[in-house]
Amino acid sequence: MSSAADSAYDVVVIGAGLSGMYQLHRLRELGLRVRVFEAGADVGGTWYWNRYPGARFDSESWTYGYSFSDELLREWEWSEHFAAQPETLRYCNFVADTLDLRRDIEFGCRIRSAAYDEARSEWEIEIEDGRRARARWLITAIGPLSAPTMPSIPGVDTFRGEAYHTGTWPHRPVSFAGKRVGVIGTGATGVQTITEIAKTVGHLTVFQRTPNWCAPLHNGPIDAATQTRIKATYREIFAICRESFGCFIHQADPRHALEVSPEVREAFYEKLYREPGFGIWMGNFRDILINQEANATITEFMRRKIRERVRDPRVAETLTPTNHGFGTRRVPLESGYYEVFNQPNVRLVDLRETPIERITPAGVKTTAAEHALDMVIYATGFDAITGAFDRIEFRGRDGRRLRDKWVDGPRTYLGLQIEGFPNLFTLVGPHNAATFCNIPRCIEQNVEWVTALIRHMREKGHTRVEATAEAEPGWTGHVLDIGRPVPFTQVSSWLTGINSNLAGKQRRTFVVYAGGAPKYRERCDEVAAGGYVGFTFQ
Ligand SMILES: Cc1cc2nc3c(=O)[nH]c(=O)nc-3n(C[C@H](O)[C@H](O)[C@H](O)COP(=O)(O)OP(=O)(O)OC[C@H]3O[C@@H](n4cnc5c(N)ncnc54)[C@H](O)[C@@H]3O)c2cc1C
Repeated sequence: MSSAADSAYDVVVIGAGLSGMYQLHRLRELGLRVRVFEAGADVGGTWYWNRYPGARFDSESWTYGYSFSDELLREWEWSEHFAAQPETLRYCNFVADTLDLRRDIEFGCRIRSAAYDEARSEWEIEIEDGRRARARWLITAIGPLSAPTMPSIPGVDTFRGEAYHTGTWPHRPVSFAGKRVGVIGTGATGVQTITEIAKTVGHLTVFQRTPNWCAPLHNGPIDAATQTRIKATYREIFAICRESFGCFIHQADPRHALEVSPEVREAFYEKLYREPGFGIWMGNFRDILINQEANATITEFMRRKIRERVRDPRVAETLTPTNHGFGTRRVPLESGYYEVFNQPNVRLVDLRETPIERITPAGVKTTAAEHALDMVIYATGFDAITGAFDRIEFRGRDGRRLRDKWVDGPRTYLGLQIEGFPNLFTLVGPHNAATFCNIPRCIEQNVEWVTALIRHMREKGHTRVEATAEAEPGWTGHVLDIGRPVPFTQVSSWLTGINSNLAGKQRRTFVVYAGGAPKYRERCDEVAAGGYVGFTFQ
């Protein structure tokens, strides 16, 4: 493909994951000249980068794909209820081919900075290789989980064996057979990686700082009859997702946890524990995530499950969270995770008792011992939601830096626009319902809303749009108010802006909109129907 940088466009989109791909498709329909710049060598975003062993959905595959195109829905078949990464990456490629997206995407281009040029009412974008592009509108599709972080441990560069971060996993096969492997991190990614490599590893050491409440995934193949049923009922499936809090297929049970007898409650929890996906989290009693007492009942149930599945009571205790209730952090879904710790060749190291002092040339040294390793895997996750923004130097009107504006936490209007940064839209950005969502469902809403706003501007002859100085604190205050009583906003996790590996990310902020996708959509629709209330146009 010829280089199209150093050029002018109507719209520049940064990122070619599911958000950027769909945004490109929609803007083309408006007849706009669009260019997408993507750091990776191909489409797919999350599914391009995260090739670690065991990487797969926790959304049901058939609820995750794009819903906007009957052709895509008809032509694509998911093989499993929770597809593995290679299949999802194939899906992204299938979409790019079907919609002929690649001709407007430039790969291997990491955007370093973006500055608003007031005189020309345009954004000037600079790529890391020094090339530039200009556009009237700038849309970030840079992902909520796309800025990998390493742990802040000394000596990381001194290790002589193989070392990998799960979020930048190599594009070649990696063998674990006969090797002594250490995994640092036990979030959703760590749980998937550990379970998969335990099947072939020589010896595995799991370094755990914070245990999570994990629930069974219960994945399985999609048989022909189910495939036919899914295809015939896509509209109903997406309608259910649309009305549920996080756009998953699971709808909260209308009962409160404490209004039923302990026996009924126990039987319900058992049923959910045997069912696939996030049902136990999203399809549970309606109050388990908002009422501490209700939450304590499911937390106790999950505690018992860990004890039942892990033979050594001390190991079970170490794997049991003590600082948060079930569901108040994102729930890792697992396929035999707890049983891994019954294997004789697997050892769990509790970093709260014996923290890592340093990575040495030979392995990992904790305060208690040096663990000799052939391979270290960093499953240490991402600088979530705001990380990819921090890695780009955004300058808005009057040279204002976004990083300075957000130093005490994000401030946005609808999680899609920022006062002082005209014509910039932030798909799946902070304060947006999309970050706590079966994400493509919310991506479609974000993209369609932004596309409609750009269409509106063109119809009215506007060249510039910006959130007002009143609308932004209004929305930001609303995000804080709606978040305050919800238990998950009172727990340290990436959903509350905490990353213990990063300076400046130790204080809880409200980075997600906790009111649920339906309410969020309603608010966005009201703003649009009112002629884009809270925005100024020129
Ligand atoms: C391992 C893993 C499993 C997940 N599973 C699920 C799931 O089951 N269900 C679910 O709903 N969500 C899941 N997610 C969340 C997932 O990120 C979203 O579902 C979705 O892929 C987000 O799409 P996106 O296009 O917004 O962002 P991404 O897919 O992250 O794409 C962003 C793109 O922007 C590019 N980019 C970033 N910064 C720059 C820059 N400066 N210059 C150029 N390019 C840049 C990146 O290279 C990337 O390709 C998972 C995430 C991970 C990491």
